Amino acid sequence: MSIFDSLIDQDETVATLRAAVAAARNDEDESQDMTHAWLFTGPPGSGRSNAALAFAAALVCEQGGCGECVDCRTAQNGSHADVELLRTEGLSIKIDEVRELLTRASWSASVAKFRIIIMEDADRLTESAANALLKAIEEPSGRTIWLLCAPTLSDVLPTIRSRTRNLLLRTPSVSAVSALLQREGASSNQAEFAARASQGHIGRARYLVNSETARNLRNDAVKLAVTISDIASAFNAAGKLVDAAKEQATVDAEEKNERELKALKEAWGQQGSKLTAGGSKAVKELEKEQKSRQTRMVRDYLDRALLDIATFYRDVLLVQSGSVDEIINIDMVDWINKYAEHTTAESTLKRLEAILKARTNLGYNSAPLLTLEAMMVSLAP
Ligand SMILES: [Zn+2]
Repeated sequence: MSIFDSLIDQDETVATLRAAVAAARNDEDESQDMTHAWLFTGPPGSGRSNAALAFAAALVCEQGGCGECVDCRTAQNGSHADVELLRTEGLSIKIDEVRELLTRASWSASVAKFRIIIMEDADRLTESAANALLKAIEEPSGRTIWLLCAPTLSDVLPTIRSRTRNLLLRTPSVSAVSALLQREGASSNQAEFAARASQGHIGRARYLVNSETARNLRNDAVKLAVTISDIASAFNAAGKLVDAAKEQATVDAEEKNERELKALKEAWGQQGSKLTAGGSKAVKELEKEQKSRQTRMVRDYLDRALLDIATFYRDVLLVQSGSVDEIINIDMVDWINKYAEHTTAESTLKRLEAILKARTNLGYNSAPLLTLEAMMVSLAP
């Protein structure tokens, strides 16, 4: 067994990481296989952070990534003393956070040979934060290794990009994801559907297998596409989708928010309803963070719904082009055939483009309702 077994369909990346681990273990300074700053890029769900975590584990494991020892396991769940995982819930990583991180990064490793910092969302670094980080990456300090993750190279400042070694993860194939889900206990039907519907996003595929709510939400989103018959229904569909995303985000956020607030107040030693001055400031900051997280959650849910809706048009296009590839939305096959008959492949492509454009705009923080309305109007026949 190896820690790299958990990376699905990433042979090239795994080969590079194995070589790096071997060079690091043998202290081969003359070999170019190991370096102190890496940038993992790849589409959502391709497993960027999993790859970074597996690499970190292999570097702190005495056997180079056995996948079973305490070092491997704690590195992977982020509790290893020498592996720090920075996850961002908010929309950006600010300079204060990076400064604190740099202080901790300068400590020497406690049990392992390296001190490893994993930053999951390097694309969210503000410019000043990125510049602060740049200094650390430019002047490697002994045994500190930086593993940054971002969706694409262009999401990261060129200065950072040019000082890190890039590893590009690919979208795992439907068959690889399906095989993984079946190894984890899904039936072959479930696994095939989830692998196709999630389009290579492993986390999403798992979620579809395990959660009925997820499957229902997906169905609701896809069915919206076929209800659009005119401008009025397009506006209506946009409203429905945004409301559903907000509702989900509220439910998911509230539970988290309460837990965090309670923990924070306890940490500041609240007595009765009184909180120290420092405590109130910390609470205000937390509430601000939570608000920005909720905004991000709404965007994430909408993005997922748009991906789901796109699968409907993808199926229509398959029928229109006479492809033999399998339809994702089997339960809607009648709708898909009817739609394919009454529209042209060219118009289907335009609709897929409209969805992609909406996703891009949401990524640039456009107003969700306006964006969705514009998109739904382009989907109307
Ligand atoms: Zn191990």
